Amino acid sequence: MSDAPLLIFDRSVPGRVGLSLPKSDVPPVEPAEVLPAHLLRKVPAQLPEVSEPQIVRHYINLSTRNHHVDRNLYPLGSCTMKYNPKVNDAMAGLPGFSGLHPGQSEAACQGALALMYRLEQALVKITGMSRFTLQPAAGSQGEMVGVLIMRKYHETKGSRRKYVIIPESAHGTNPASVVMAGYETLKVATDGRGRVDLEDLQGKLSDEVAGMMLTQPNTLGLFEDEIVSITGLVHGVDGIMYMDGANLNALIGLTRPADMGFDITHINLHKTFSTPHGGGGPGSGPIGVVERLAEFLPRPLVEACSDGTHRWDDVGPNSIGRVLSFYGNFAMMVQAYAYILSLGEEGLKSVSRRAVLNANYLKTRLVDIFDLPFGEGIMHEFVLSGSRQKERGVKTLDLAKALLDYGFHAPTIYFPLVVPEALMIEPTESETRATLDRFAAVMHELDRLIDDDPDSLLEAPRNTPVGRLDETRANRQLDVRWRGP
Ligand SMILES: *Cc1c(COP(=O)(O)O)cnc(C)c1O
Repeated sequence: MSDAPLLIFDRSVPGRVGLSLPKSDVPPVEPAEVLPAHLLRKVPAQLPEVSEPQIVRHYINLSTRNHHVDRNLYPLGSCTMKYNPKVNDAMAGLPGFSGLHPGQSEAACQGALALMYRLEQALVKITGMSRFTLQPAAGSQGEMVGVLIMRKYHETKGSRRKYVIIPESAHGTNPASVVMAGYETLKVATDGRGRVDLEDLQGKLSDEVAGMMLTQPNTLGLFEDEIVSITGLVHGVDGIMYMDGANLNALIGLTRPADMGFDITHINLHKTFSTPHGGGGPGSGPIGVVERLAEFLPRPLVEACSDGTHRWDDVGPNSIGRVLSFYGNFAMMVQAYAYILSLGEEGLKSVSRRAVLNANYLKTRLVDIFDLPFGEGIMHEFVLSGSRQKERGVKTLDLAKALLDYGFHAPTIYFPLVVPEALMIEPTESETRATLDRFAAVMHELDRLIDDDPDSLLEAPRNTPVGRLDETRANRQLDVRWRGP
């Protein structure tokens, strides 16, 4: 049973058909007439010939071999694996949206332009920024775009800068984006409360600093409560404040990046705004900027005309240029806009309130067995330490693997680095109290097993289609291709 999905090729029977298409009304063409010779197949494609029920079962079985948020809790901290409402998919699948071609004329895609414009306006309202580009295809690409905008700002003023400050607990993409945009990183220390160490920050600031990139709430799930002082200090050396907004799920409707003094922020539509991610499809990481940086945004942007229509505005002499072919991942925009509209202002506010409540509830159910080094003012996620468990012989990695046997995805582990044996847990607002209780009960059970049956943890997972992998080999010799018998 467990390897049934792979057998679809073996079940092929010549002539068996799994679909019925309407008769084509397009005159047939010979492939050789439209394709160059080197692209023509020499042998027929080896596709399985199977019936519709067989193919449905094939995909349904495949879909259950991996963990996903439609199966069970997916508390992968910093990733906001919330439920993606199916109505969003239905909206993105409307033929007027899904049948669009990005090469269509402005006049022929007015609805899409209006949607992009309205989505931008919604993001403006949520963040307090002045304008957004919807082009970046991921948060990390958005980060790079943000740092390029930072760079362009300083270059335009004739100012040469060398560093971008990031906290030592930063998400790995932050230093990568800084370096790709041509700067060096300057690390700022974390204080005893898990926040930016203000004294250390002051010591690092100079006219060589282009700006600072900060996640809010930070990667420990804590609100940087000295944020106004931080942004003030960085502005004092004409630095630009960049908010890594991947954790906006904690703030939406409650506070805005612009009000905290941030000049640029990215938003992960595929986290906060419930578009799928993690193998679920392409992402979208819009970048918002304050007024004085808007001239540097990638073009084109959508403008509203006085007659109610919309048009592309490609004029931007100071723009950093395009960062993606066409206009970004449009279906993600439709899904995110549907999510925003279906919740409304009050609904979005309750998303964040519930996300924070769920994280704090789960935290209180787990602190009796786990250490919580930074626990003051937890927002949407928290970072436990498995140090006590490690002393008893079971590492965080083993606990993470064992959770799979109970039908849960593991939390993010060994990140951020400032917490030893870290378990970064983000339940999100879409889980019920009963699910959180079940997860807490399983964590307690695992803790008991450390003393009663440690082998069951060290050999986990035992109930998944694939057992414990050799992590090094799986990374170095990744091979996911199926080969026929
Ligand atoms: C997810 C995440 C990113 C990167 O976003 P991608 O869309 O995965 O590139 C950056 N920073 C933080 C804090 C994140 O959680």
